[in-house]
Amino acid sequence: MLHFAVAGAPLSTPKPGGTVEGIRRAHALGITAMELEWVQNVPKNPERMAEIRSTAEELNMVLTVHAPYFVNLNAKEKEKLEASKRRVLDAMEMGQLAGARSVCVHPAFYLGGDPEEVYEHVRAATGDILSRAGKKRLTLNLAFETMGKGTQFGTLEEVLRLSKEFGIYPCIDSAHMHARTNGAWNSAKEWNALLDLYQKSLGKRALKRMHMHYSGIEYTQKGERKHLPLKESDAKWKDFLKVLKARGVEGVIVCESPAMEKDTVLMQKAFDRM
Ligand SMILES: [Zn+2]
Repeated sequence: MLHFAVAGAPLSTPKPGGTVEGIRRAHALGITAMELEWVQNVPKNPERMAEIRSTAEELNMVLTVHAPYFVNLNAKEKEKLEASKRRVLDAMEMGQLAGARSVCVHPAFYLGGDPEEVYEHVRAATGDILSRAGKKRLTLNLAFETMGKGTQFGTLEEVLRLSKEFGIYPCIDSAHMHARTNGAWNSAKEWNALLDLYQKSLGKRALKRMHMHYSGIEYTQKGERKHLPLKESDAKWKDFLKVLKARGVEGVIVCESPAMEKDTVLMQKAFDRM
């Protein structure tokens, strides 16, 4: 099954809001998944995580996590690199307590470095993160995201190569890819090529457990500017869904539109009708 996730508690969540109420509200709207948006910081309360987990289990909601933005696995300074690893590990640890299946991370900035050297730095940091995660018996996926700006590490090839090396799977953000290339990755032909490369790198079965992001997006020469509601953007979102359907893709697609649950439901309903 392909789950359409709302990116955080729906806007229509009754006050005072919060994740648990958000899960209940999303479920009431017919949504079957939610991404926990820990983009500023990771919550550190295990009891809250247990509450999130039991609510999600009760309502059959699939959860994923978005790790903090303040991560650079290519950081030069030792302290900055360690703080980045720490944030990823915290998101994985709390995510596992909350019952999430995958944690997406913005991996790094090139900082003017040679992409191949940057790859080696990110690879070394990933090896360290995953060995520490293993000692804590963390079993959820670490998903490196395809990024929207040319200054950010995270092309499709980079995240697939890294994922293959470590037996993990990436977070495919097709809107970021569209913005980074100033308008490419917006047709059935290109999305089929994307899935072909994904399948070639990670195997056909990997298409049955994907972690994706999608939304409309505004962009300039420098890439991503901001996310847009589907209907206010140039995103050929129905064509995208048709490709996912035709290829039998399963897993979670997080709708990162500012219209939140409205666009999540729009995508889900269109997909169900296909
Ligand atoms: Zn992201």
